[in-house]
Amino acid sequence: MVNDIFIITKIQVIKMAKNAIITGGSRGLGKAMTLKLGELGYNVAINYRSDSSKKLTEDLVEELKSEYGVEAIAVQADVSKFEDCEKLVNAAVEAFGEEIDALINNAGITNNCNFIDLQPEEYERVINTNLVSMMHMCHLALPYMVDRDTAIVCTASVGGLTGVINQADYCAAKTGVIGLCRALALEFAPRKVRVNSIAPGMIMTDMLKGVNQDELNALAATIPLGHIGEPKEIAGALEYILTADYLTGQVISPNGGFVLQ
Ligand code: NAP
Repeated sequence: MVNDIFIITKIQVIKMAKNAIITGGSRGLGKAMTLKLGELGYNVAINYRSDSSKKLTEDLVEELKSEYGVEAIAVQADVSKFEDCEKLVNAAVEAFGEEIDALINNAGITNNCNFIDLQPEEYERVINTNLVSMMHMCHLALPYMVDRDTAIVCTASVGGLTGVINQADYCAAKTGVIGLCRALALEFAPRKVRVNSIAPGMIMTDMLKGVNQDELNALAATIPLGHIGEPKEIAGALEYILTADYLTGQVISPNGGFVLQ
């Protein structure tokens, strides 16, 4: 009788985690998108700026670890400053390694002021926070993203598609974000980096906290789908973009029909 020796090799399927950075990831749209990244299996470097958001971000780190079993870190950085963006990208690389699979540029602010009263330092702050920050982050992260099927997603706004009264600086920045994404999409398509933007309509976050209930009701009445959006409805657009392999250079605008393109 032949003694056959069967060697059974245990094949282990190891799921390689992907790594993401999100700016302004602790609250509002950013928080919903951070949770979505965790649900999709990404390790996440979550950026925040304000001391008041430190605890929120640390709680999110714990939530990602316990709910989704991914790694997460909290990184304080003012993304309007190049050196802070460097600190953020370096922290992600140090924590997760030299492969960044998704960069979500989300941080943003608004002034909501008529253009004559708006001071130069105020509109410069909006341009630097909403647009220049995204250029810094793309510039610094791209070397870790090229040639590997990766994605950049930038939060624009319907203000980047249309004009909005008292939002000249914000509209200029958000139109710039869309232009930045289109140009980078063309330049980096051959190197397998997809670049798209999300242009939300009105979404219920702290950005609308100055608006009273009557005004909110009046705003909701102008939206064909009849309600102001929820952050999770924007996280759904992020999931679509991250999984839509043939999509690049596009603007996805979840706005309840407020702007029909
Ligand atoms: P939000 O609740 O006010 O959150 C703003 C986020 O941006 C916070 O996480 C904040 O961090 C972060 N941030 C601001 N300046 C920063 C800086 N210099 N460095 C790093 N982080 C900074 O507003 P949101 O509605 O979620 O807005 C998120 C994005 O969606 C923005 O780009 C906004 O323009 C866009 N958007 C919002 C709406 C809307 O209706 N809500 C509509 C269209 C587009 P801290 O917590 O640390 O301050």
